[in-house]
Amino acid sequence: MTTVIDLTVTPWREAASCLDVTDQVSFFPDKSDLLGIAKAKAVCAACPVADECLSWAVESNQSEGIWGGHTPKERRRIRRRWLEEIKKAS
Ligand code: SF4
Repeated sequence: MTTVIDLTVTPWREAASCLDVTDQVSFFPDKSDLLGIAKAKAVCAACPVADECLSWAVESNQSEGIWGGHTPKERRRIRRRWLEEIKKAS
């Protein structure tokens, strides 16, 4: 049986650390902007809802930005594993 998750319901966002950061941190840095990526990841590292954020980004297949402390490339790897697990379980 497949569980359908409503990806539009994201109450965890209210506790997101990125709501409180200044304009000096972008969560959509260019992939060559290593300092920008590191700054965003540092905010995510202290975020109380990082796990929820990462799950949401992986499940909704967000292709841009830093979510849950992970780059798009890192999330693609997680998503591949997640889809393989779903396939095995079905
Ligand atoms: S993990 Fe990062 S992007 Fe996600 S809500 Fe927290 S601070 Fe924002």
